[in-house]
Amino acid sequence: MIKLCENQIDYNGLKLSGYEKASEMGLDSEGDFLRFPDKVFYDVTAVLVNGGIVVSGRIEMIIGCQCVRCLKDYDLKVSCEDVCHFYETGSKSEFDLTPELREDIIISLPQNFICSAECGGLCQICGKNKNVTDCGCNVSGLERSCWNELDKLSFSGRNRKKTKTTDAPKNKKRARRE
Ligand SMILES: [Zn+2]
Ligand SMILES: [Zn+2]
Repeated sequence: MIKLCENQIDYNGLKLSGYEKASEMGLDSEGDFLRFPDKVFYDVTAVLVNGGIVVSGRIEMIIGCQCVRCLKDYDLKVSCEDVCHFYETGSKSEFDLTPELREDIIISLPQNFICSAECGGLCQICGKNKNVTDCGCNVSGLERSCWNELDKLSFSGRNRKKTKTTDAPKNKKRARRE
């Protein structure tokens, strides 16, 4: 818990800096794909303003992740440099900053984990890592979309009739007669 007490803040503000356990922040690793570090670094300043406290600063961690193209494990620095939250005082004078800082770091995670923009990924034919070896497979004739198989489907009237004759109910009747 990253705790903040209103009475600790003077008019110069209060600097809060250190490490928080990732598990305490509810950051749990998801198998091999995403591994959170033991600790998350935060460096924020709390300032008294009219009616509350403004907390601003940064939070940072280094995660272990897996490239979606080549499946390599790599480390990635994830940081949020523009932490900024307002805490209303009055009924409360003690605050837990953890939930907001957790959100800040989670929304800073990339949508796609790619080890580098130049990552060649795995060969579609032999499966070798193209960053490591040039397997020489000819992929020019290979169309890239996994939806290509759908193009082979035919939706003409004839085909539709064909499917009807093999309908399940008819088969059942035949089975009974036998
Ligand atoms: Zn990669
Ligand atoms: Zn290949």
